[in-house]
Amino acid sequence: MRERFWENYSLGELNAREWEALCDGCGQCCLMREKDGGEVTVYGIACDLLDIERSRCSDYANRLSREPNCHQLTPANIGSYDWLPDSCTYRRIHRGEPLPAWHPLLTSSRQRMRRKGITVCSYALPRRQVPRRKLSQHIIARWRM
Ligand code: SF4
Repeated sequence: MRERFWENYSLGELNAREWEALCDGCGQCCLMREKDGGEVTVYGIACDLLDIERSRCSDYANRLSREPNCHQLTPANIGSYDWLPDSCTYRRIHRGEPLPAWHPLLTSSRQRMRRKGITVCSYALPRRQVPRRKLSQHIIARWRM
């Protein structure tokens, strides 16, 4: 990867490795959410493919075929992902913001992210463990876009 590529190149100029390395691995995009009109509701319930302890997809290469609700972020479509968390590194770079001080590309670890509660590992539950009638007990955020 090129030195400080996130500062020196636009998202569209990144190679595949650099693009993947930008993901901070928070796992927040793997949480269940519902969009109703202009309102977004986020649940503390993770996609069954998410390895919650690591906050990483357990089958990243095949995720799009296995999970119909999964998304493939690209430089061209990142601007339309307004439901992703503000902390999402792709969104931050797209908005012209710097890498956050806790990002693994700067710290070489995810310990700071964990301590700050940015990764979902401390609270997310696997979707298969939560019956649909109990979903409302697991709402963690709701906002208007
Ligand atoms: S929200 Fe953004 S930075 Fe966090 S895991 Fe998803 S794509 Fe990566």
